[in-house]
Amino acid sequence: MDRPTDRVTLLADVAGIVSRSHDLDETLGNVVDLVAKRLDADVCSVYLTDTDLRHLTLRATRGLAREAIGRVRMAFGEGLVGLAAKTAAPVATEDAPAHPAYRYFPETGEERFKSLLAAPLIVSGVSIGVIVVQTVTTRRFDPADVDLLQTCAQLIAPVVMNAQLLALVASTQEDQSRIAAELASSGVRSAAAARLAARPNLAVKGIATSRGVAIGPIYFLEDPLDLERVEYEPSPEPDQEHRDLLGAVEGARRELHEVRDQLGERFGPEFSAVFNTHIQILEDKGFVSKLEVAVRQTGDGLRALREVAAAYRRMFEGIEDPFFRDRGIDVEDVTRRVMAQLLGVRHRNIPLSEGAILVTSHLMPAHFALLETEKIAAIVAEHGGPTSHGAIFARALEIPAVTGAKGILAASHPGQAAIVDGGSGVVYLDPDEPLRSEYQRAQHRYELAVEHLDALAGRPAETRDGRRVALTANVGLIADLRLCERHGAEGIGLFRTELLALAQRGMPPEDEQEQLYERIATAMAPQRVTIRTLDLGGDKAIPTLGLEKEDNPQLGLRSIRLSLAHEGVFRAQLRAILRASAARNVRVLLPMISSLAELRRSHEVVAEAKQELARRGHDFDPDIPVGVMIEVPGAALIADALARECDFFSIGTNDLTQYTLAVDRGNERVAHLYDPLHPGVLRLIDRTVRAARRARRAVSVCGEMASNPLAVPILVGLGIEELSGTASAVPVVKEIVRALDAQEAEKDAREALEAGSAAEVHAIATRRLRESGLLEHPDIGGWLAGVMNGADGAAAR
Ligand code: PEP
Ligand code: MG
Repeated sequence: MDRPTDRVTLLADVAGIVSRSHDLDETLGNVVDLVAKRLDADVCSVYLTDTDLRHLTLRATRGLAREAIGRVRMAFGEGLVGLAAKTAAPVATEDAPAHPAYRYFPETGEERFKSLLAAPLIVSGVSIGVIVVQTVTTRRFDPADVDLLQTCAQLIAPVVMNAQLLALVASTQEDQSRIAAELASSGVRSAAAARLAARPNLAVKGIATSRGVAIGPIYFLEDPLDLERVEYEPSPEPDQEHRDLLGAVEGARRELHEVRDQLGERFGPEFSAVFNTHIQILEDKGFVSKLEVAVRQTGDGLRALREVAAAYRRMFEGIEDPFFRDRGIDVEDVTRRVMAQLLGVRHRNIPLSEGAILVTSHLMPAHFALLETEKIAAIVAEHGGPTSHGAIFARALEIPAVTGAKGILAASHPGQAAIVDGGSGVVYLDPDEPLRSEYQRAQHRYELAVEHLDALAGRPAETRDGRRVALTANVGLIADLRLCERHGAEGIGLFRTELLALAQRGMPPEDEQEQLYERIATAMAPQRVTIRTLDLGGDKAIPTLGLEKEDNPQLGLRSIRLSLAHEGVFRAQLRAILRASAARNVRVLLPMISSLAELRRSHEVVAEAKQELARRGHDFDPDIPVGVMIEVPGAALIADALARECDFFSIGTNDLTQYTLAVDRGNERVAHLYDPLHPGVLRLIDRTVRAARRARRAVSVCGEMASNPLAVPILVGLGIEELSGTASAVPVVKEIVRALDAQEAEKDAREALEAGSAAEVHAIATRRLRESGLLEHPDIGGWLAGVMNGADGAAAR
């Protein structure tokens, strides 16, 4: 194995086997076959640690007697394999029988073999197995061979660990108790031992979505009731029906006051102002008297509400000005709230207990606007994937989350104790004491590591050979600014304005928007703030916005298409952004551009907004940079044309991956196919970077990929100048950038572009992280080693 490309291909193939792994024995069998063949060795075997973590048993082999599988067992420290496990370090010897630690196992027919190379499988610093190659003729294993086998070991270690954990979970209660007792009596103390020993009563495996660990009681978030379809039995007594309806109006009014005050406190007045409008509607004599007339006529409160709502809807639809026309959603929202009261349902402002673990069917962005997020310790969703917008908000707010946790709704119940491990995607129900305390310790260790990295926030993100990479943050709430400062983000690379719209279930008036943008721009100045225009639609729907239901919302009237279809709202938003640009640190970003026509029309609307402001005498940045998000393959392919007509590019890899690979980013059933490191996606990024360079335009990445440790070396190698990701990931990404050499990264990137599969790219990136010494990093090394097994970007979180 002399050529580096052969090594990468081997690692890619191992990564490929691992990512397709369903059955441990089959996986290990395939790995040993492959490694023996490619390393030209006579034997390749894998030994795995027993549950006592003190012995190893032969689990797969190519070249040794097959009957020896499951039979050959050795203690840690016994023989060369035991030595590698005990020292958690590779062992290489030309003359194995002459080595002082050599031990002969007759069952294997091993006497024929001369040279040996063994590499331990390590998880959380603990050896959980050993992979070994042996040759009949004498062979000198060089450092590159050692490195290669060690990387193979690292690729398979997480799969082994997960399989062992799952086997444990699936085993009977008796077995679990026996193993726990054995472990307790053996006195073994280590992270892995504790995880194996302290088996939970039930574990549900989902997709790792937002890092962090939480321990707390489960809280069920019901899906909102479909009020249009609900059964309703009016009172036979018309006066009673009348009283019920007025009581519901009063209840809704009280509720609105509460919600307004709470949201205002949490997110600022802009987020709560809409409720003033709603309160006003409920206090409006015309609205209430129309309801009274309708309930007298129909004797049915719900019908009265529906009729009045329909009448208002028709009225609003007739208004010419799109902004006022859209206000109809407020009336709809208010009537829904009154309906909910009438039916005795409250599905807003859900009272949460402090430290609750929210369990829900789908994780929606609107949850973050409507719930008291500071009380949520973690979120678990039965469905969905790690790059849905709800998942992104969870990461932005640093709330640990697991999505695609099939069976969680049926397996858990409100109030039940649970541990959510957002890094591994496992939810433990009714955890027992040893598991709880292990997680508490792990939580503490993680907090210390973050604290340590945060303390180094002032160091520049610069490669070893001096290339600067700007590390900025994706933000959606004013509360996020605190995180930007804490983690040392160098500005805001993406401000998602839609959360404001989701909170208000419609876009607020220009003045309110301006105040919010201004606050952000002022807080960050002189650092840059990139404000993206509304990116609604797709999974970021506002039920009351009046958007028509679409069969394929991700391919429908979303994002810039929606803005251009509602130019009044779009222009008002652009005016608000422009008014916040007086300090010259604001940029406008247009999402989901797929044609020059959209870009040109957007420029025209920007120009109109500027003229309007100039007429009104407002100060703004006349040269405000206008950038394009590259998140549709078609846009990447015409990047040269787009670059000539915009000021900068920001590559939205979340959508770019979804559209390039035809994989719905929110669908857990295809989440395993979603991989931004797919060479197809990389080629589009490369094309975009080249086009930007030719036109001398800046180019950044603002998708989740920018926070994915495996992607960082490749993106730096592709020439990305700015990575905008989750604020909390900035310190880790900085450590990676600082450990890289830009020229080596460029070489890797070239190789990655030529790769045939995402698995090959994973292997290239894995090798780089390894060779840069990051896996030995005292703060993030252990975590990175775990991440490397992920076939998707989710693993990085
Ligand atoms: C993206 O698509 O990569 C992106 C940053 O936008 P969003 O995730 O908000 O769709
Ligand atoms: Mg997008």
